[in-house]
Amino acid sequence: MATTNGVPSRRRPHVLVIPLPSRGHLLPLLDFAHRLSTRHGVPLTVAVTSSNLPLISAFLASTPLAAALPIEFPDASSPEHSSHRPPPGSHHALLAIHLPGFREPLLSWARSHPDPPTVVISDFFLGWAQHLADDLRVPRIVFYASGAFAVAALEHLWKGVLPLDPNSSPVVVLDSLPGSPAFPYDHVPSVVKKYVAGDPDWEFVREGFRLNATAWGAAVNTFDEMESEFLECLKRFFGHSRVWAVGPVADSGCRRAERSPEAEQLFSWLDACPPRSVVYVCFGTMYKPPPAQTAALGAALEASGARFIWAVGAGVAVLPEGLEERTAERGRVVRGWAPQVDILRHPAAGAFLTHCGWNSTLEGVAAGVVLLAWPMMADQFIDARLVVDLHGAAVQAAEGAAAVPDPGTLARVFADAVDGTKWADVRAKASALAAAAAEASEEGGSSWVALDGMVKELETAYASPLPIDHR
Ligand code: UDP
Repeated sequence: MATTNGVPSRRRPHVLVIPLPSRGHLLPLLDFAHRLSTRHGVPLTVAVTSSNLPLISAFLASTPLAAALPIEFPDASSPEHSSHRPPPGSHHALLAIHLPGFREPLLSWARSHPDPPTVVISDFFLGWAQHLADDLRVPRIVFYASGAFAVAALEHLWKGVLPLDPNSSPVVVLDSLPGSPAFPYDHVPSVVKKYVAGDPDWEFVREGFRLNATAWGAAVNTFDEMESEFLECLKRFFGHSRVWAVGPVADSGCRRAERSPEAEQLFSWLDACPPRSVVYVCFGTMYKPPPAQTAALGAALEASGARFIWAVGAGVAVLPEGLEERTAERGRVVRGWAPQVDILRHPAAGAFLTHCGWNSTLEGVAAGVVLLAWPMMADQFIDARLVVDLHGAAVQAAEGAAAVPDPGTLARVFADAVDGTKWADVRAKASALAAAAAEASEEGGSSWVALDGMVKELETAYASPLPIDHR
């Protein structure tokens, strides 16, 4: 190892960032990369397909030391590569299956680069990036866009997954996790259920998680005060302590392109609403509610009498007829992309009906709004358990993709959620968790210190090349 007066010399890392090009994964990894680069002066190269370049333009504009590495899927017309190009609209796990086609082009790029990468940071669905890091003889840090509870649950399940059978085990007990949490089989993360159902593609996903567990380090978008026991559990599972809680990473600054005139109007409207009076409704980027759920939701928002913003996403959403006109004074429907982080952080935001995708959960927690949990699939039941049961900082509003809530009952939930005289205990816990999230990210806070520690370990580790078996 190179030394200066006996002290290992430090070398500034150059990070190759490999995101999964699905927004729920891409956005938090870019938020994290932005923080790493702007706080620690770390240069980054972000691998991205040319067609996805527009998705990272706001990030590039706000991260001076970041560069994009446009990369193409191997020619789909050649038979040996045809499996590398994902079908349009792929589910993100299936996308991951196609992305190993990037390994060779990335390797060639790194080998011919004057300042080759000294570390690979990849999304947690891209286990194959471990092979790339090994080829380059550099460490890999897995960025987990899920919470530590969910990641620990996945680790537990993948290890014991073969005996898992919905018929013989209708309830799954995660007995290697703190508190031995139990879930109905239906609430087990979808990636595991699909594997159990025998879809051969998912063997690849499982192998990716196995490779993740061998990575040099793990950065998790969470904070100590929220998930300390599950973070400790991950250290035990991975067999080392390079597990850094670096969140919440959501950063509106590096997500925001110029605000559209529609967004400006939305924020002017919010400015005129009383504090904590608005219910925000959004189910993330993947879930498309069926018409019966949309109808029930619309009826509940109307009957609640509450102010609301309903982000209905891209595509055609058939809302109850006349709803927008009848609620024009107190409601806004956002079609397309809603500036969620800024909406939640606005003082008028009071409650958030969420599908409990991890980003949304954490963004809601950080904003201190009352979370109304309606988990649908994936890791969402685990996230809901964390905020509703373990922290008491949220209320369960509905459960499952098949649920069609009674509009009257849901209307009462909306009304109570923005009635400051109700749910004092939940409100107090949500505020305390938000304060802890803010403290974690401030200078000297736990997530700040963790990120600092991660960079220092990297600099020291990379004064000399790592042996391949780096643990
Ligand atoms: N998001 C947004 N505007 C929208 C929909 C989603 O800004 O109209 C962002 C949201 O802030 C979050 C991410 O997209 O950061 C969704 O991630 P999450 O994990 O909550 O759900 P997923 O889309 O992965 O199901």
